[in-house]
Amino acid sequence: MATDIKSLTREELESQFKDWGQPAYRVTQLLDWLYVQRAIDWDAMTNLPKNLRDKLRENFSLQNLELARKQGSHDTTQKFLWKLADGQFIESVLIPANPALYGEDSDRHTLCISTQVGCAYGCKFCASGLEGWKRNLLPHEIVEQILSVERTAAKAPPAGSQSAPRVVDNIVVMGMGEPLANYDNLLQALKILNAPWGGGIGARKITISTSGLVPQIRRLADEPLQFRLAISLHGATDEVRNRIMPVNKKYPLKELAAACEDYQDKKGRMITFEYILIAGVNDSIEQAKPLAALAKKLFAKVNLIPYNKVEGLPWKRPFEDVCEKFLAALQKQKVPATLRREKGHDIDAACGQLRLKTERELAVN
Ligand code: SAH
Ligand code: SF4
Repeated sequence: MATDIKSLTREELESQFKDWGQPAYRVTQLLDWLYVQRAIDWDAMTNLPKNLRDKLRENFSLQNLELARKQGSHDTTQKFLWKLADGQFIESVLIPANPALYGEDSDRHTLCISTQVGCAYGCKFCASGLEGWKRNLLPHEIVEQILSVERTAAKAPPAGSQSAPRVVDNIVVMGMGEPLANYDNLLQALKILNAPWGGGIGARKITISTSGLVPQIRRLADEPLQFRLAISLHGATDEVRNRIMPVNKKYPLKELAAACEDYQDKKGRMITFEYILIAGVNDSIEQAKPLAALAKKLFAKVNLIPYNKVEGLPWKRPFEDVCEKFLAALQKQKVPATLRREKGHDIDAACGQLRLKTERELAVN
């Protein structure tokens, strides 16, 4: 299958256009159609000569995502289920700003994007891992999640304006899949989303979440772009992590902590620990001690997230007072910590849940 045009960087397009004997300003025009106008069809690109449009059509695909299902409303969390060209489903979640969460300004929207269909890492509590890994997303399928949401969610453009306003200004790579297991496609997509000619979203407004792939965290530390890093910790001892996250057997806490330290040193940015609170698994006050120690050692902040129930899995979220006590224990240790007082719980907002539900329904019908 042809490469999609939105999998290419400006430099790659320039080199292609040069081979075709096309002047460089044509690339600028094309990029405007792709990332400002968000065009979904070659024929919309009226200022490109027809022979160039034909050449593009012959050589590249121009895909967008088909909206299969949407939940939520304009001013709350909205969840998008997309159908890909090969019939697979992925999800993106649009979240109104919560300034405390990832340091973003208020009055903004964060989009949570997927990087794989399914996930190979099989964390015991997670819907994305339940049916295993299907495939990696291509760069354009990652990029298109932002463009497709903006096409769907943007209000009508102001009079006289050529394009709809930007909706997404923060990205969290926390949807389906393990982003660092699809490293090259992810980095290519994030380069495009970060570039001023592309998505125009600052690297510091992009957070990558990983379950703890140590070699890739080290590789990411050496990239020039200053992405924020979040670690799905969920346990502050090997005992707890081994029980719920198989990846910990390969990369135990000590190695993970060392890689985080390396990232911290090279980037000088605060790391975030994601910590899902699961009743009877990791929510006891004793667990808050090693967590606080680790967070302090790495200058990390902690996001506590009460577990979202996944149908078919036995895990439960703790009672509210248990979560509040856990938070207070961290704060007492002077660890910067927040507790998510849930948005989107009612619409299966945790990663992979809407896809799982839809696939189960499709299987029944
Ligand atoms: N694979 C990456 C990114 C995707 S998961 C990672 O694991 O970091 C995004 C976050 O959602 C992770 O922190 C994950 O542990 C969490 N998560 C998964 N299932 C959840 C559930 N049922 N309730 C709350 N959070 C969940
Ligand atoms: Fe994969 Fe992340 Fe879910 Fe673990 S938590 S199964 S790594 S998506």
